[in-house]
Amino acid sequence: NGHPPSSQNHQKGGKAQQHQQQQLFARKRLISQQRKSLPIASVERRIVDEVTKNDILIVVGETGSGKTTQLPQFLFNAGFCKNGKAIGVTQPRRVAAVTVAKRVAEECNVELGQKVGYAIRFDDVTSSSTRIKYMTDGLLLREALLDPLLSRYGVIIVDEAHERTVHTDVLLGLLKKVQLTRSHSIATEPVNNTKTDVDMSNAEVNSQRSNTLKACQNAKLLPLKLIIMSASLDAKGFSEYFGGAKAVYVQGRQYPVDILYTYQPEPDYLDATLITIFQIHLEEGPGDILAFLTGQEEIESIEKLIHGRLDKLPEDRRKIITVPIYSALPSEQQMNAFKPAPSGFRKVILATNIAETSVTIPGIKFVIDPGLVKARSYNPVTGTESLIIIPTSKAQAQQRSGRAGREGPGKCFRLYPESEFGNLSDSTIPEIKRCNLSNVVLQLKALGIDDIIGFDFMEKPSRMTIVKSLEQLLLLGALTDDYKLSDPIGHQMARLPLDPIYSKALILANEFKCLEEMLIVVSMLSVESIFYFPREKIEEARAARKSFSSPDGDHVTLVNVYRASAECLGKSRMVTTKDKTIERNLNKWCIENFINARSLKHARDIYSQIQGHVQQMGMSVTSCGDDMLQFRRCLTAAFFLNAALKQPDGMYRAIASGQTVQIHPSSVLFRSKPECIIFNELVRTNHNYIRNLTRIDPLWLPELAPQYYASPN
Ligand code: ADP
Ligand code: MG
Repeated sequence: NGHPPSSQNHQKGGKAQQHQQQQLFARKRLISQQRKSLPIASVERRIVDEVTKNDILIVVGETGSGKTTQLPQFLFNAGFCKNGKAIGVTQPRRVAAVTVAKRVAEECNVELGQKVGYAIRFDDVTSSSTRIKYMTDGLLLREALLDPLLSRYGVIIVDEAHERTVHTDVLLGLLKKVQLTRSHSIATEPVNNTKTDVDMSNAEVNSQRSNTLKACQNAKLLPLKLIIMSASLDAKGFSEYFGGAKAVYVQGRQYPVDILYTYQPEPDYLDATLITIFQIHLEEGPGDILAFLTGQEEIESIEKLIHGRLDKLPEDRRKIITVPIYSALPSEQQMNAFKPAPSGFRKVILATNIAETSVTIPGIKFVIDPGLVKARSYNPVTGTESLIIIPTSKAQAQQRSGRAGREGPGKCFRLYPESEFGNLSDSTIPEIKRCNLSNVVLQLKALGIDDIIGFDFMEKPSRMTIVKSLEQLLLLGALTDDYKLSDPIGHQMARLPLDPIYSKALILANEFKCLEEMLIVVSMLSVESIFYFPREKIEEARAARKSFSSPDGDHVTLVNVYRASAECLGKSRMVTTKDKTIERNLNKWCIENFINARSLKHARDIYSQIQGHVQQMGMSVTSCGDDMLQFRRCLTAAFFLNAALKQPDGMYRAIASGQTVQIHPSSVLFRSKPECIIFNELVRTNHNYIRNLTRIDPLWLPELAPQYYASPN
């Protein structure tokens, strides 16, 4: 399913080379023309002037106007990096950071990782010569831990600010502070900004402190330029937050888009999406299709269904290629979405809301919008966070339909009745208001910001949510009784690029001598859907999974899969997937065992990255072998906050929150229903499902988590 093999150039020698060179020139010419015709090209001078005059600028422009790809180049060309400082551009999504960096490197005619690079969690493609650096907003936050004044940047561009991810919101508050510090009397009291140092125990302290001092002195010479970019046309909120900052508007270019609704609500939106794709393919003229889905699993299942249905069409009507694009997609595959379809073929892009504003894919004429999005949701009373599928906002629906009218008139198929549109909320609630803040609180504490409630957030999260997060961090041992970062656990947890609860799990696993197993679990849980269940081979897939299943639960099952995959390669467990033959063997093994190869490879990469981190922290990766008792006890010590007890009716009660939950059918414990379990994830659909479970002994809870379960007497 991807592109058909392109016709290889078999000519030999000079002629072939000449031909290649011509193609290269043609491509360069095309790119240069495309760039000149972007709406933002006409305001280059104005933007450069405004950035020169103002330390904070808000740039608003419709998706596709050229903000992300062009603006950093304008500033580079205007000499903003002459002092050796870099331009940092943050994106809420990994895919956007990667694909845009690749595009801009090509536009600049440089090798990726040189002048233009990107850095996302678990993947850094930059070098000392990188001057335009695309990265996720979360990654820049982590950089601030080591370089509190972000001294290597002269300009920071916060892109896609309208998305209001929790990282963007925290970053805005932090950057406001950093900017102030860098333009005022900073050399006098540098250490104030890095309280983290004060109680750091290792030798890094001194060198970091002197670096900070140097950074401050350098930074004093150079105030930080801050640019906030947004695709939502309302800049007022950002402008007010930054003390009345100036906003520049980039005129967009939009063709009319015909919006079509269904007459009735659709009971099965996946089926409706599939039908609409084929309806467009068979009845409409040429033009690519963009369908918005909620996640990797959905995208993969639709992709299979499309190919299944294509096989039943006459030969000449099968000319569809499908390209998925979602955040966890390995970066080599992400660029496929941008490649034009071979002539005569129609490209169907299956995307998450990444394609709403973060990346602009050329050639789209038809948009299919089921009107749903996967979002985080948090209940501060119970302290539980879950992923739920909810209706989009009006603003999101409009952004989605806009994707059809970039190059000519288009059509958008909203898979819900028109009357429902009116019921949608106007805009999306910022994520900071609907997620668990433990991670944010930990990071802010590590940055020396102790008063979380008093922090200058653009939109304040509820006091209750903050208090709940502080409590959770206290229970995990990350904070001391007076809510300071604890040493060494709190510092170690802040350093690991993981959710606090997973960081803690690794630290504990080191003590329990099962760090290898915990690394496997954390890596496998960081990717979506390891198991692959095609509808047409469901029985075989079930049998395949059974061979890995452990009566102990899903965590041990994941360990079994990982170990078996390593064994099939006949190498040590640490092999990377870069080698071609290894990759082929692994793919073959995955197909035979109904394992999702993409996800497994991603998990293996994550494994080696986190392994690097924990080794740097002085831990050694030891295995508990077959002693799964030890491992389960460690899981209990780590995930005690998510323990649940079976009720007489076969449902479970989550002990911490008191919620009634039930085991997700995908769990290996779905049938055996043990008395007591710990779980990792709560998924709310029409039920409260828990996923990724391990069977435990309830007596372990007071023994291994006395801070929570021991009765006070
Ligand atoms: P904005 O940030 O304002 O939404 P971008 O800078 O992302 O706009 O995109 C500008 C133009 O560059 C778009 O028209 C898009 O089609 C094109 N473009 C961006 N990335 C790629 C890519 N990887 N391949 C081809 N074209 C791209
Ligand atoms: Mg953009």
